[in-house]
Amino acid sequence: MSRKKLIAANWKMHKTPAETRAFFATFLPLVNQHTRDEIVVCPAAVCISAAVESTAGSHIRVGAQNMHHENQGAFTGEISADMIVASGCTHVILGHSERRQYFGETDESVNKKIKSALEAGLTPIVCVGELLEERENGKTEGVLRRHCQGAFSGFNTEHVLNMAIAYEPVWAIGTGKTATPQIVAEAHAFIRKEAEAEFGKEAANKLRILYGGSVKPENAAALMEEPEIDGALVGGASLDPASFAVIVKY
Ligand code: PEP
Repeated sequence: MSRKKLIAANWKMHKTPAETRAFFATFLPLVNQHTRDEIVVCPAAVCISAAVESTAGSHIRVGAQNMHHENQGAFTGEISADMIVASGCTHVILGHSERRQYFGETDESVNKKIKSALEAGLTPIVCVGELLEERENGKTEGVLRRHCQGAFSGFNTEHVLNMAIAYEPVWAIGTGKTATPQIVAEAHAFIRKEAEAEFGKEAANKLRILYGGSVKPENAAALMEEPEIDGALVGGASLDPASFAVIVKY
């Protein structure tokens, strides 16, 4: 089963609109022939317009990093799926570990956001993954099961094919410590089994499971060669256009 890989950049709280334009001015010529994979850049919300304008006419897609589950209302500081779509986004990262850790997101809140994102026609990139302490205490599968239930519960086969899961072991995010392709493959196989239990083998085989955690130009090829790894969610190394282009073209 061949799944088109998805390589997504998570810029977190970095770059202004001017810096976003400057990034694409360098990045686009480096990847304009590269249509093998789906490429998505997720800037801060205030840079979405600059990213959408800069990538117009190219095959690069733009995503948001978060959203509220309601479509409108008295939720100061929040943005909705409809707003994201109207701004030109096709994807949204949901349930990133930094959102779970610092902003109180739970499997329940992530589940509501996925529902709203799917209804708006966005592709949610749903982050799951264990803390170092959880891995060391043999709790990885339990955590992944809980996160997967949050991602899958209430959805059908069609829904799951419109989402991607990003396995991001928290101990590998921004630490320079990359999980080995074997560790990632095991986690991805477990996530796929969870998807199979919920949606059946055919749908589970089509689900894209990305890896995130210190993906860099030097390790991208080894990770992407692993058949269980269907792409990457890249933080730090996606901020530099040359570095992200090398990852995209691994
Ligand atoms: C991330 O934040 O999703 C991430 C994977 O970050 P980094 O690549 O910097 O580890």
